[in-house]
Amino acid sequence: MVLAQLGGSISRALQQMSNATIIDEKVLNECLNEITRALLQADVQFKLVRDMQTNIKKIVNLDDLAAGHNKRKIIQQAIFNELCKMLDPGKPSFIPKKGKTSVVMFVGLQGSGKTTTCTKYAYYHQKKGWKPALVCADTFRAGAFDQLKQNATKAKIPFYGSYMESDPVKIAVEGVERFKKENCDLIIVDTSGRHKQEVALFEEMRQVSEATKPDLVLFVMDSSIGQAAFDQAQAFKQSVAVGAVIVTKMDGHAKGGGALSAVAATKSPVIFIGTGEHMDEFEVFDVKPFVSRLLGMGDWSGFMDKIHEVVPMDQQPELLQKLSEGNFTLRIMYEQFQNILKMGPIGQVFSMLPGFSAELMPKGREKESQAKIKRYMTMMDSMTNEELDSSNPKLMNESRIMRIARGSGRHLREVMEMLEEYKRLAKIWSKMKGLKIPKKGDMSAL
Ligand code: GDP
Repeated sequence: MVLAQLGGSISRALQQMSNATIIDEKVLNECLNEITRALLQADVQFKLVRDMQTNIKKIVNLDDLAAGHNKRKIIQQAIFNELCKMLDPGKPSFIPKKGKTSVVMFVGLQGSGKTTTCTKYAYYHQKKGWKPALVCADTFRAGAFDQLKQNATKAKIPFYGSYMESDPVKIAVEGVERFKKENCDLIIVDTSGRHKQEVALFEEMRQVSEATKPDLVLFVMDSSIGQAAFDQAQAFKQSVAVGAVIVTKMDGHAKGGGALSAVAATKSPVIFIGTGEHMDEFEVFDVKPFVSRLLGMGDWSGFMDKIHEVVPMDQQPELLQKLSEGNFTLRIMYEQFQNILKMGPIGQVFSMLPGFSAELMPKGREKESQAKIKRYMTMMDSMTNEELDSSNPKLMNESRIMRIARGSGRHLREVMEMLEEYKRLAKIWSKMKGLKIPKKGDMSAL
């Protein structure tokens, strides 16, 4: 994902600034120029980037900062705030309530991932106990109904559509009525897309919207459309009351900066992102953790959410305690591997940690990575308690490594590789020593 590159460039710029002995106007300008370049390369709209630069300069007045002030921290915080501001339109979107009927209409260009995203959105809520339903009001694209039907059937979500009827407004109204009677609490209407922004598309959208009176209009945007994002999003906003945005294909080669532009154009927040073709490759989008990750500061709240999801309840306090002690032993690594194999990919969890990329479990190579983790665990099974509980890297001398290799039937090289992996993890986790685990969105502990 190119967003990772953006994150890398921004954190490098901040790092370079941190390496400077004195932070003066020149150093600040160099840092800001570097960040500007990175944002433009990521397809963020030019005007947004320029405004951001001006605002930061206004906030960070180096002359006014008395000696002793931590200039780096202030600059970093200003950059963080400005990036958040870009992504946060300042007003939350309508949030449907479980148990109370809401109609959500999806709009977007053809190929943006609208139909796929409708099902993902329905499935996401269904897993949380909602009663969603899907209405296919896309009569323009042949096969749209079949696609929705197929997705809906797979996810066991009720759906409505027609092969015969060509009036999308009629289908939308009938579908919404029917599911209201069936007490569905989330009625999702998929509308037609077109290849281009055409008058006919906008007119149809407007009519469906008028007839079904949606509580929320969701604009689905493909993250790979680059600089065109701003204009496209604005055109949709001018025709229907877009209330929130979903950015798809964030897993691909997209530069992702278009998301920032779409927010500015629609003055609506991004609420979810699509990260793959599968039904559950769909994530809630939160501004602060996202920006935090971009700046290489780690995504604490995302990490905590994942801990809650992946680590069994009764083990959570203990794990957090161990983390804050900064004592990352081989046993902790072993226990986490057990959790991962039981419950899901560690890549998602670890990629949220400060300075950590999903090297251990790259996306798309989960099977390979699982095999690797199992191999590591077999080797660790041949370790003594002393070895597992020690956080002293010097303990693992040559004779111990040879014994582990013999005991587990693995090659010496593999044991060394596993220990290298451990060292790499331990180094990162040691940074958490004494760190208070921040609450959602709280930056002060980073
Ligand atoms: P629509 O024309 O807007 O309804 O688009 P579709 O839902 O048919 O999606 C177009 C293509 O994009 C399909 O091949 C989807 O599988 C794919 N797609 C949708 N969302 C994502 C995503 O988040 N990531 C990836 N990689 N592919 C996606």
